Amino acid sequence: RTIISLCLSQLQREVIEIGEVDEDYAPIHTYQVCRVMEQNQNNWLHTNWILTEGAQRVFIELKFTLRDCNSLPGGVGTCKETFNMYYYETDGEEDRALKESRYIKIDTIAADESFTELDLGDRVMKLNTEVRDLGPLTHKGVYLAFQDLGACIALVSVRVFYKRCPFLVKSLAEFPDTIPGSEASQLVEVVGHCVNNSLPLYEPPRMHCSTEGEWLVPIGKCVCQPGFEEINGSCQVCKVGFYRSLLESLACSKCPPHSVARQTGATACSCEDGYYKIDSDPPNMACTRPPSAPRNAISNVNETSVFLEWSVPMEMGGRKDVRYNILCRQVLPDGRGLEECGPNVRFLPRRVGLSNTSVMVADLQSHTNYSFLLEAVNGVSELAKDHAKQYVSLNVTTNQAGMSRQICHNSQYFLFCQSQPPHEFSNQHHSCPQDSSYTIIKSKETEMVVEGLKPSSAYIFQVRARTSAGYGAFSRRFEFQTSPYFTAFTCAQKQYCDMAFIPMCLCVPSLRRCGYSKAKQDPEEEKMHFHNVKFPGVRTYIDPLTYEDPNQAVHEFAQEIDVSFISIERIIGAGEFGEVCSGPLRLPGKREIQVAIKTLKAGYTEQQRRDFLWEASIMGQFNHPNIIRLEGVVTKSKPVMIITEYMENGSLDTFLKKNDGQFTVIQLVGMLRGIASGMRYLSDMGYVHRDLAARNILVNSNLVCKVSDFGLSRVLEDDPEAAYTTRGGKIPIRWTAPEAIAYRKFTSASDVWSYGIVMWEVMSYGERPYWEMSNQDVIKAVEESYRLPGPMDCPEALYHLMMDCWQRERSNRPKFDEIVCLLDKLIRNPSSLKKLVNSSHRYEFTPQNNNVSKTSQSYVKSFILKKIYFENLLILMLKPNTNIYLINQCHI
Ligand code: AMP
Repeated sequence: RTIISLCLSQLQREVIEIGEVDEDYAPIHTYQVCRVMEQNQNNWLHTNWILTEGAQRVFIELKFTLRDCNSLPGGVGTCKETFNMYYYETDGEEDRALKESRYIKIDTIAADESFTELDLGDRVMKLNTEVRDLGPLTHKGVYLAFQDLGACIALVSVRVFYKRCPFLVKSLAEFPDTIPGSEASQLVEVVGHCVNNSLPLYEPPRMHCSTEGEWLVPIGKCVCQPGFEEINGSCQVCKVGFYRSLLESLACSKCPPHSVARQTGATACSCEDGYYKIDSDPPNMACTRPPSAPRNAISNVNETSVFLEWSVPMEMGGRKDVRYNILCRQVLPDGRGLEECGPNVRFLPRRVGLSNTSVMVADLQSHTNYSFLLEAVNGVSELAKDHAKQYVSLNVTTNQAGMSRQICHNSQYFLFCQSQPPHEFSNQHHSCPQDSSYTIIKSKETEMVVEGLKPSSAYIFQVRARTSAGYGAFSRRFEFQTSPYFTAFTCAQKQYCDMAFIPMCLCVPSLRRCGYSKAKQDPEEEKMHFHNVKFPGVRTYIDPLTYEDPNQAVHEFAQEIDVSFISIERIIGAGEFGEVCSGPLRLPGKREIQVAIKTLKAGYTEQQRRDFLWEASIMGQFNHPNIIRLEGVVTKSKPVMIITEYMENGSLDTFLKKNDGQFTVIQLVGMLRGIASGMRYLSDMGYVHRDLAARNILVNSNLVCKVSDFGLSRVLEDDPEAAYTTRGGKIPIRWTAPEAIAYRKFTSASDVWSYGIVMWEVMSYGERPYWEMSNQDVIKAVEESYRLPGPMDCPEALYHLMMDCWQRERSNRPKFDEIVCLLDKLIRNPSSLKKLVNSSHRYEFTPQNNNVSKTSQSYVKSFILKKIYFENLLILMLKPNTNIYLINQCHI
């Protein structure tokens, strides 16, 4: 903050410059005027030219004393108790002659306290301080002037200053000394400069300079570039033997086994001789080598087929991607050597890249000797050119071929399910790799349910028949895409006796790959979609209740932290069980991080301790960037604590209220996207939150929102918003779906309803849903199809999404993955957010039926203060801050 030096110059005789002492006898210099008894006073005092140094808003602090007119002997007469302040902007010093007409008035200044004769005697100063701000200023400097119209004033000091956001280093980014904008609530966005050897993470770091000279709303950050790590706010080079590759990993890591970093600043470690790495290996993976040969190979001949089986190699080379290749050679008669098997020989499931340790070789010649070489390979075999291949060999002799009989009704059906890599819903096209694995399913039926498929994956099915005469041809390929909720599907085949089989897959073509628009989908996008069935390979949430001993659940999912690693520095909130504090956590060998520390207050019962740690048993099962991360628990000393990552901006509702109107729509949608992504994860895990609300979302310094407050119904007991329902149990009515209120049907679909309410809270900057309506009125209104109106300036696309979340029929609500998809689309295409909910929409009723009951009419009427009939118009005066839906004019 710079103080601009100011010098007053006397312009009229009536204003006199006086050297005085204040009540402490310190010398002061004042300008005084006191022509209270004479008519038509117009005394001016103006400053020298004040250079504003680029500031667009300056503050003027005046200190003055003023005489109480009533205390003047001889009555008030022409006496005034105010004076005026003016300014005049120029780009350079001008003629000092006062040109009153040029000056623009800033304000009339009145005194809070005026002095009387008595005060003079007691030497009481009664000094007034007034501050005015001036802006936007557009020139290099300004003159100030003070006009007296007949008051008795002494101007003691004039301080002219402006505010600036000082140079700051935060999250490895430097923000320059910045002059704020001119408007009172304006924020100036400043892009930070990453400190030496650091880079912006995802986006350049930004901060906002407020008119108060404070830095607000940090967005983005810098991280040390690969080969460097952050130590005490600067980037230090990784030592020999250490590396840092990804921007996401913060500290340098020791080189993994069989690899070295011989120089400082390594971004990756190189493999020792004889060890290798492929591009897809993560940097922290050890270097590996090819496997040894398969072991214990055996063969089993059946007519002209051979079934080969073996055990995994002794040495896998440190990798899990071991595959097997078969080399088939026919022994030529009369010792003429070996010849590679012809193309007629079939390998089931295939010849190379086998993941199982067996293969069926069919259609060999009868009474012939064959030699099979079995080779094990892994991801680095191709790189290990010097590594001699190791095989195991098997010699077999085939028998007589079987009898040909064409009996149609004994046919067997083989279903080949060929899975492609998981479909990422990205633009990348995954073609079916030549050697992708497939599964054979054998059936005598013409209908089959295929289970255990992976979610979000593409599958190809082909059917063919076999009789004792041999195999028929494959059917054409049928391609299917499993949904994120995939279960199983039914395939049926129609059989024709001439061995042509036409498979018919009876599937529900309803998958919407992205978005959930109710419009007809592109047929290309119509794939399979199934719900509510658990599929293998995806982690599900385990209810801590399933543990007999709750302590066991805690230690299964949460790491015990020694209390000596934690320092409590500040209290940041109050939880149900005790204070919530923050401070650094210093785990040995790890970087220090800030954490939130929830404590269990002394004198707790065993039940309270269990309930307190319950949350940790749940939180510890989750690992997602939009779910609050559990660092661990302290249970071996007192107080018992739950340690989570620290969220600098606290809970979302308070944060939004504090920063009302300060974010761009994209920032708000970004927050909503984060919450939806966390909720998608929870619903995929099979966890229903039940208390999703802005107050239960935490925000970090990068505006990342994370879902918090876990637990079962008991969590709701702690929520001040939760109210008892007629069926008992507490429910946060305003956030809860009707079916959950009515009969406790809590599902991910009821979480979607709550998510819609959170969207509304976010878009209205923390407004209370349904304002001051009572819980009972909210239940009634929602029952009668009342829905919250679109918040002010809310993009229409977002309001549509909210309304869809509030569909009465829960199966019609979007799923969280569809919500994430839609928000992603909106973020990618910000012009889709331009169309705002217009005011007519905000007051529009969306009845789901036309029978608007009496209650809803009386509910609407309760907002009407006054009805005025004007000609043929009915004018309604509504209560202030009221948003109501008008049903239609007739109903009103
Ligand atoms: P809770 O008991 O979880 O509702 O926490 C009470 C209050 O403590 C919250 O409303 C937040 O203001 C604060 N708080 C809780 N956890 C954290 C955290 N991880 N980071 C920052 N503040 C938190």
